[in-house]
Amino acid sequence: MLLDGQRQFQIATAVHMGRGVSATLVERIQEIGATRVTVVTDPGVLATGMVGRLLEPVRTAGIAIYLDNGVRPNPRDVDCEAGAQRARDFGAEVLIGIGGGSPIDQAKAIAALVTNGGKCAEWPKTRAFPHDPLPLIAVPTTAGTGSEVTSVAVITETARMFKMTMGGPKMMPVIALVDPDLTISVPKGTTAATGMDALTHAIEAYTCVIHNPVSDGLAARAMGLIAEHLVAVVDDGTNVAAREAMMYASTIAGMAFGNADVAAVHCISEAIGGLYDTPHGVANSVFLPWVFDWNREVDPVRHAEVAACLGIGWTGRADDEVAAEAARWLADLGERIGIPRFRDLPGVDPADFERLAAASEENGSTPDNARPITRADYLDILQRAYAG
Ligand code: NAD
Repeated sequence: MLLDGQRQFQIATAVHMGRGVSATLVERIQEIGATRVTVVTDPGVLATGMVGRLLEPVRTAGIAIYLDNGVRPNPRDVDCEAGAQRARDFGAEVLIGIGGGSPIDQAKAIAALVTNGGKCAEWPKTRAFPHDPLPLIAVPTTAGTGSEVTSVAVITETARMFKMTMGGPKMMPVIALVDPDLTISVPKGTTAATGMDALTHAIEAYTCVIHNPVSDGLAARAMGLIAEHLVAVVDDGTNVAAREAMMYASTIAGMAFGNADVAAVHCISEAIGGLYDTPHGVANSVFLPWVFDWNREVDPVRHAEVAACLGIGWTGRADDEVAAEAARWLADLGERIGIPRFRDLPGVDPADFERLAAASEENGSTPDNARPITRADYLDILQRAYAG
């Protein structure tokens, strides 16, 4: 047990990274010794042809594959539960998640449900899994979530349209194949939103109350890489150097928040994703400048450090002035890369704001926000972002 002020940094995933590294998938499966694998992906990723290319050597090696390719964005509990039954029936020994955060999270949930049973809602991250989940190999195809190195899966409880978090140390993928080439086909809008998601992870990991020296280092590096490369990769998705920088930034930001936490931006964006099915990265992008601006007064130095990581000059200037500039910089970045405004998102209705504020407050990351935040504060931020 950790005492007040003590921190832990843990990562159980072997991270293989570099252009083309996903081609080693068959060797990684053979290392584990599996002969039957369930592959979890979604129709958009399947349509790129990359899943077929990645699985061909696996098939040739005589490894039996069950392809579960129906993942929906903001993955649903019912799909995970049905997927676990199919994986059980097939006799899967290993799960492989190929895609963005949605397929990887669904694969994580399936891996845990196969051995532990029950429904997703019965396994909030506060409840430890008695049995090890099936081993999971994560192959990210977006540069955003960092789910390939985290111990959680964010799953929508369909009955109450609420995004809950399953997890615990046993849910970490055993292997991640972090191959920037897989992200070259990501469309412009998704590149922008997922990049902002990674930036949100880094900033929230850095500013949340349970940050630690290791997560700080990773988050700071991620912020620098994203500040340097996000606009370039949105402008030209074939810019391989920028794709590479964004992919590594996403993975290390995942390690950072996975060992610290996210905070109020995520609490709001998960509430919104549960109710309106808003893409996670879009929801984070919309609220990042608002929450940063609202938080900064509680710790101007730490927020000015974020500004410095983003390339904003600090020397000779007051901390709060620099932190305020960072909030404007984040808003300008969102506008520059085409992030929509809150009021323009499909489905958004001010009549829902009380409910969204309550769901944000219920989120397990609320206590870790830099500035103590209540339901009334969430409501205020929602209203200001809607008017802004
Ligand atoms: P996503 O997985 O939902 O994918 C978004 C879209 O991009 C899909 O239509 C998909 O088909 C397409 N796509 C993915 N890769 C592609 C490629 N290479 N080429 C072309 N199209 C591609 O989006 P995401 O932002 O990666 O994941 C979001 C989910 O991850 C949310 O549910 C969020 O809550 C969750 N998440 C989880 C963690 C975690 O640690 N477990 C962290 C952050 C977010």
